Amino acid sequence: MPNIDYENLSGLNAPFRSEYEKVFSALLEKGWFILGEQVTSFEYEFAHFLNAPKFLGLASGLDALEIPLKVLDFPVGSEIIVPSNTYIATINSIINAGHKPVFVEPNLQTYLIDAARIEEKITEKTKAIMIVHLYGKPCEMDPIMDVCAKHHLQIIEDCAQSHGAKYKGKSTGTFGFGAFSFYPTKNLGALGDAGGISISDTSWYDKIKAWRNYGSHIKYKNDYVGDNSRLDEIQAAFLRIKLKALDDITAHKQKLANLYDELLDENLVIKPARSADWEEVHHIYPIRHEQRDNLKEFLLSKGIKTEIHYPIAPCDQKSVQDVFNKNGWILNEDDFRLAREIHRSILSLPISTIHSEEDVRYIAECVNAFKP
Ligand SMILES: *Cc1c(COP(=O)(O)O)cnc(C)c1O
Repeated sequence: MPNIDYENLSGLNAPFRSEYEKVFSALLEKGWFILGEQVTSFEYEFAHFLNAPKFLGLASGLDALEIPLKVLDFPVGSEIIVPSNTYIATINSIINAGHKPVFVEPNLQTYLIDAARIEEKITEKTKAIMIVHLYGKPCEMDPIMDVCAKHHLQIIEDCAQSHGAKYKGKSTGTFGFGAFSFYPTKNLGALGDAGGISISDTSWYDKIKAWRNYGSHIKYKNDYVGDNSRLDEIQAAFLRIKLKALDDITAHKQKLANLYDELLDENLVIKPARSADWEEVHHIYPIRHEQRDNLKEFLLSKGIKTEIHYPIAPCDQKSVQDVFNKNGWILNEDDFRLAREIHRSILSLPISTIHSEEDVRYIAECVNAFKP
């Protein structure tokens, strides 16, 4: 019986091993580890990849979400619009920055924030919309940007799963502040924690650059109460190596996604949506099934490991509920009913560079053979 991992970080990085070892030795020899030539070069190269004016390396994806909120300096307790279907980091960034997350339900076809439901949530306290290009699918940017312009809101894009994904030809992360994670399992992953921010309005560049380094432009002179959120030289060097292969990584995932689309029986499972406006990067290939847990068990019995992104909706997390209770905010079930439904029924099928078309054929065959 086959033994198919969901992901395998050793296998994922194997193609880059000799280049990684070479650059590691060189940097160890050089003895410069924080904010140097590797970081500057990676920032330049990743900005070029996105076609973004500026990019800055940071310590994590969470920091990349949090720092724009802090730099924008909204009054404490401002309202930030966010999808109810996302990974917890998106929500935590808003709370950590001292603001209130205001949840908007996803569209049940795309699983992304429902642009048509945003405007009804805007109040005089709303300062920004934080959207999430979840699973490698771009959000519906035209209506979202219209709402932002109409209400003078900032836009922060969670691009942790969308490196290189495009909406109508424009890269995610170039509509506002683009928050990227380079966590090892992401499409562009480092060998440790790493992140960065793409900056469309370059008037914010200097402040963010200082902010990541204790609010300092000049050594020991501090203009802002910033953070320590610096991308390591060694991680930047690894990322530069992998970035050269990112188009190939994405192409491989697209090929596997197309094959799943072709082989999975739509009478048996709900397949992920597609759109002519999207160039997806398929960070995750999510299907939905009424008997998700049984399907997951069944696939495991066939030697196939799957994941759930994510098993518990953010609004059902104790952490979020505690913060809402403490602040006297109300969590309305109507704001996360669809998110809950997605979290209950979603299942991620293997779709990594370690997987072959043969793997996908076997997985699709097993999914189609599942009898609820
Ligand atoms: C991974 C992820 C993050 C957080 O990134 P870290 O680098 O782990 O801090 C944020 N949002 C989403 C959607 C993610 O998938």
